[in-house]
Amino acid sequence: MKRDESTIKKMSELLRSGAVMLDLACPLCSTPLFRLKSGETVCPTHGVVKVVKTDTEVVEIQAQAVLDRVQALATSRISIIANSLGAESSENSERELLDQLERWLEILERIRRLKLMSVKEERK
Ligand SMILES: [Zn+2]
Repeated sequence: MKRDESTIKKMSELLRSGAVMLDLACPLCSTPLFRLKSGETVCPTHGVVKVVKTDTEVVEIQAQAVLDRVQALATSRISIIANSLGAESSENSERELLDQLERWLEILERIRRLKLMSVKEERK
């Protein structure tokens, strides 16, 4: 993933504030992680990150990021479909849009359930 100017700017801000660059990379974007004076580990792009120790944890965090992306996609698709539904006059295309809407809502609901599950696991 390419490092844009804002990431580099944040990295230099972190260094100026006394943060230390670690020999670890963010599991989401591979940018080097920093340890703040407060002891927190942060990614310049993603903010505070949990330092992962096992491959399983890396996979879980990546899965969470994928869920976030799909959720954002589903939300924007649903809003596009809702707008088209308002403008649609033909009955056939309306039915098609409703089918699509139903599928996206199902995806959204499933994502919410998966996220709740992972929150419960963290509380154990
Ligand atoms: Zn990151």
